[in-house]
Amino acid sequence: MIEKSPLAVYVHIPFCVKKCLYCDFASGPAGPEEIAYYMRILLKEIRSFEALASLHFVQSVFFGGGTPSLIAPLYIRQVMDLLRSQYEFAEDAEITLEANPGTLTEGKLAAYKDIGINRLSIGLQSIHEFELKTLGRIHSYQDFLENYETARKIGFGNINVDLMSGLPRQNMEKWSATLRTVADLEPEHISAYSLIIEEGTPFYETYSKPQGRIYLPGEELDREMYRYTKSFLAERGYTRYEFSNYAKKGFESRHNMTYWTGGEYVGFGQAAASYVDGRRFSNPSDTEGYRTHARNAYNAFKAVPPLSVKEQMEEYMFLGLRTSRGISREDFKKRFGESMPRAYERTLLSYFRQGYVAQEKGRIFLTDDGIDVSNRLLSEFLLD
Ligand code: SF4
Repeated sequence: MIEKSPLAVYVHIPFCVKKCLYCDFASGPAGPEEIAYYMRILLKEIRSFEALASLHFVQSVFFGGGTPSLIAPLYIRQVMDLLRSQYEFAEDAEITLEANPGTLTEGKLAAYKDIGINRLSIGLQSIHEFELKTLGRIHSYQDFLENYETARKIGFGNINVDLMSGLPRQNMEKWSATLRTVADLEPEHISAYSLIIEEGTPFYETYSKPQGRIYLPGEELDREMYRYTKSFLAERGYTRYEFSNYAKKGFESRHNMTYWTGGEYVGFGQAAASYVDGRRFSNPSDTEGYRTHARNAYNAFKAVPPLSVKEQMEEYMFLGLRTSRGISREDFKKRFGESMPRAYERTLLSYFRQGYVAQEKGRIFLTDDGIDVSNRLLSEFLLD
């Protein structure tokens, strides 16, 4: 009998009430007919991947977006029913739904609980009304608080809150107030990302030009905020286990850890990415492209050539070094049947001498100084 391996399932719901001003995700507003049409196609795509079920069991499902809490819970139920009818699920499978304040109600939260959602990820970003308005968010802090309290009352015992630093006109005082207020609520998990000004967004138009850039915290303040976040949240019992993710003991996101540790995942829906059976693949990010692709998604997936060993080694290094657990020579050897290439050893030695990496109990990880320049450091692991 074949032993099944764990699989993380991502389901993309690309709908939002309105587009936030900084957002470049595959998401946007849609009417009920468009939503119904998309969900029909999505179910078809999931059905077509049925063959994966003979090799894998599901250890996590993540409804991301977009705003999955915008659509009727019935759609979420249909997806879960279909997945459960196809796959074996781990008894303690982590099932997350991303939700935005302003789209949640008590009725929806109760329905999610009934469907088996056991983790909520709520997009708050800031407690300050001015910052929420600047970002183009649809909700207030009060909306968030009411949703959060209702979720607790209904019995959600695993909640992530998304926060964002580096916002226009933000200073340490404002950022620390956001962190403190949210930590006081004691969610099990906090994601704290730094704002990135993405090309093609209204924020890019405003803040990429010199006259706009003056409103953004400079690089130094950004790093200061990052370090403060780590030390403040550590005091409150949260461990940083990835560059931007903090969790109380035992509440690290299993789904996200699959991405960072080279585990297998399949993504359904517009712009969703997969890494399964050695193949890496992304669905088209435009609506029309996805609709056409979904008709033949499984065959298109099978036609993708598997990653080479060199590509898998590169991934192991630059994904593993994002986590505070880091990487180890022993893991590397177990995985690839050979020692780390000399080029990697040379790079690690040079980073070690510069204080960018440290080693403890056989594991190698980036130091705070290394995280500050991680983009540059990690790109060195691409083998020629
Ligand atoms: S709610 Fe999230 S996905 Fe939707 S527009 Fe805003 S940032 Fe983008």
